[in-house]
Amino acid sequence: HQAPVITIDGPSGVGKGTVCHLLAEKLGWHLLDSGAIYRVLALAALHHNIELDNEEGLALMAAHLDVSFSPDDEGGIKVVLEGEVVSREIRSQECANAASKVAAFPRVREALLRRQRAFRVEPGLIADGRDMGTVVFPDAEAKIFMTASAEERARRRYLQLKEKGLDASIDRLLAEIRERDERDANRKVAPMKPAEDALLIDTTELSIDQVVDKALRFVVEKL
Ligand code: C5P
Repeated sequence: HQAPVITIDGPSGVGKGTVCHLLAEKLGWHLLDSGAIYRVLALAALHHNIELDNEEGLALMAAHLDVSFSPDDEGGIKVVLEGEVVSREIRSQECANAASKVAAFPRVREALLRRQRAFRVEPGLIADGRDMGTVVFPDAEAKIFMTASAEERARRRYLQLKEKGLDASIDRLLAEIRERDERDANRKVAPMKPAEDALLIDTTELSIDQVVDKALRFVVEKL
């Protein structure tokens, strides 16, 4: 018997992270932020001067990556790479873009499968990513795919950055979102797409609470 999993996939800026945290909190379950793994790998490649097009080097590094994830005090995730706290650093736009490049390589994804599946422990797991329902946990108890228009996602990201006192351009954010969506949805392995049995939630016009509510009702029905 394996612990239950709820998978939540979708593009960036759709509110997945927030919804996953809230669900994990409500259910008292563990959380897998699979994007953070690809981000850490991209950062490690930078540290070790491994080119982002070196599939073999990246896959080897992925298999031996010394990284740990633990809950932090603010409801986020503390990420430690080779003894160094990188929780903040991996959230940069540069890391996101680099992550989406390394994530396109089949051998890199393969090398990270076992690491991701190890998060499936009692009492249960909320798995956040692009291919959680299609590849990593195809037998998940409940699968959700969240979407929102690229414009709305750029607007949300812009407000987030402004709130942190950071400068940003909506046009540039929109261009980056489109570029990353394009790469994630069109790669050959594990492209971002809804699992056949996933519940689709378009969050463009919904509040976080409304999304969590929809997700919870669906999950309760499935468990
Ligand atoms: O979700 P997040 O924006 O942190 O993910 C960063 C990048 O990692 C994505 O753009 C995607 O290319 C990659 N990723 C992936 N599969 C996942 C999670 C993230 O390919 N399950």
